[in-house]
Amino acid sequence: MSNSGSALIRGARSLWQARARFSSTSSGSAIPPESRMSWMLLPTKKISKSNVEGEGRATGQSTTDLLTKAGYIYQSSAGIYTLMPLAQRVIQKIEQIIDEEMRRVGGQKLAMPNLLTPDNWKKTGRWQSTGDELFSFKDRKNATMLLGPTHEEEVTAIVKDMVRSYRQYPLRLYQTTRKFRDEARPRAGLLRGREFMMKDMYTFDVDKEQAIETFHAMEAAYRRCFDRIGVAYAVAEADSGNIGGSLSKEFHFANQSGEDTLLECKSCGYTANEERALSKSPARKTISAGQNKRYVARVVEGSDDKIVKQRIVEVAHGHEPSVLKIKRVWPIKSNQRLEVAEVTPDYDGSSSGEPSSVATFEQLLLDDCAAEARNSNSTGEAVRGDWHVAKAGDGCGECSGVLEARRAIEVGHIFYLGDKYSKALDLSVLYQGQREHVQMGCFGIGVSRVLQAAAECSSVEGRGLRWPLSIAPYLASIVPVAENSGTKAAEEVYRVLDSVRVHGAHIFKDNVLVDDRDYLSAGFRLNDAQLMGIPLTIVLGSGFAESGQVEVQLRVPGMQSMQSMPENASSTSDGYEHRARVRVAELSEFISQVLESHCVALGMAKVA
Ligand code: ATP
Ligand code: MG
Repeated sequence: MSNSGSALIRGARSLWQARARFSSTSSGSAIPPESRMSWMLLPTKKISKSNVEGEGRATGQSTTDLLTKAGYIYQSSAGIYTLMPLAQRVIQKIEQIIDEEMRRVGGQKLAMPNLLTPDNWKKTGRWQSTGDELFSFKDRKNATMLLGPTHEEEVTAIVKDMVRSYRQYPLRLYQTTRKFRDEARPRAGLLRGREFMMKDMYTFDVDKEQAIETFHAMEAAYRRCFDRIGVAYAVAEADSGNIGGSLSKEFHFANQSGEDTLLECKSCGYTANEERALSKSPARKTISAGQNKRYVARVVEGSDDKIVKQRIVEVAHGHEPSVLKIKRVWPIKSNQRLEVAEVTPDYDGSSSGEPSSVATFEQLLLDDCAAEARNSNSTGEAVRGDWHVAKAGDGCGECSGVLEARRAIEVGHIFYLGDKYSKALDLSVLYQGQREHVQMGCFGIGVSRVLQAAAECSSVEGRGLRWPLSIAPYLASIVPVAENSGTKAAEEVYRVLDSVRVHGAHIFKDNVLVDDRDYLSAGFRLNDAQLMGIPLTIVLGSGFAESGQVEVQLRVPGMQSMQSMPENASSTSDGYEHRARVRVAELSEFISQVLESHCVALGMAKVA
């Protein structure tokens, strides 16, 4: 063997021995390898000032940048990411909360395939209507396959095949798996991915009444999930989109970077996605017919945009007609599109070179906020209704309040589906002498989106990440920074944390990191702790050897101040991050008091 070869082996051996020294099996250490940062794949880098104030980004780093720098995610290609071990721990905690709440409402977990055939998708019409968002390809026999973007078709087929009697209902089946959607604009890391993680529950009931009860039970279960995750959320009335059905609500985290706009009424609490919000004219405004705006709504089909039918829509000046609301009364086929275009006030459909093949205009759609129409070429009475897109400043549709707008990130969506899928796939049940299609519901949470949205809502530019305690990857990290204080000190504090009880629970068990990367400078490691956003950092400096004191840094969203401090302890806070110097002997009590009073302040039953 060459010299360099044996040197390599010696090097590897000494590295192994160095690591083995720390491992719990060889030294009786309390700190297992999985808690040691020296064992972790952590591509962390300092948050340098130049990055924070990066060119073209007045507001600093994006959450995607932070998650990448802190070693949570790694981009493979557009909208496709590896969830690194830290993110994986966050995902597991989110999943754990969801699993517990789904089981409480009778959810049974399964795992459906992601490789699907289009047969059932053709039967429901979604093969044609989903369009470019579907990932599909050919197998070796030249048969077309698709990567599952959602699983209504698959689960309905399973239930149809397996269930024989009404006695087997209700059924609540769910899974947490990857979904594949070729999004037109993948953006913001995990917020809109092309491959992402979703929890999807599908429910089956024998009649509508029970299905609606299921919907309400699921809404309550969703509220419990999001209460426990601990990020403030709003529940909005929503549109049911391509999935169909009528009862639909979205769960949102309010955030400026969100793609959705919620309209909310402070007076009565009405909250809806702007897509479907109901609203009245801005307070007591009188409108004359001249202020109406005319649009033509057309159903077109084929590549030559053949006009199948058209209607005039009149809304008040300052409003836009809502394609969504018009579609609700004017359903279109999967090969058709609805288009809306503005026209001059006296346009009646017969002029300006419009095709004469369109025989008549059907009824005029006259918006509730608009004045009486002046003239129209339409047949029959004008249909009064809410045909406009609501906006901030409009009157609330439910009370006399005013709607306000807020940007938000959609993290969950629940639908009552009725018989849309059971009818298309012929899933019926004989119940009380009648054979009817089974009533379904579907309920999704974007698990990987929740991770990034929670970070987005809990962090502040330039300060690293922060996590709600319930989903933080680890609750504490111990950072020995004094020369030679290393392992023994970390060991002692690790044991203290193991014994801490918060509301009776040992919440730090398997939840503590030790930064034993003694090849890195103290400054670098402290920076890392901040970047990763572990809620508690226990810094072991020279004060530890001298007087048994440690510095506790707390980065806990929602914590305004530390309410309980032991005597002689000193603390500082900027409202975002809190620091206290505490003696090790008092550390356990200090941590449980601080976290318990934080729970009380936030009205939470428990920390994690
Ligand atoms: P969006 O309007 O944001 O595209 P959607 O209405 O298509 O969402 P659903 O089909 O209802 O979403 O999926 C359920 C949940 O899955 C959503 O509430 C969201 O949290 C999550 N989700 C949907 N699309 C993505 C995506 N591309 N990346 C990450 N999460 C997603
Ligand atoms: Mg979508």
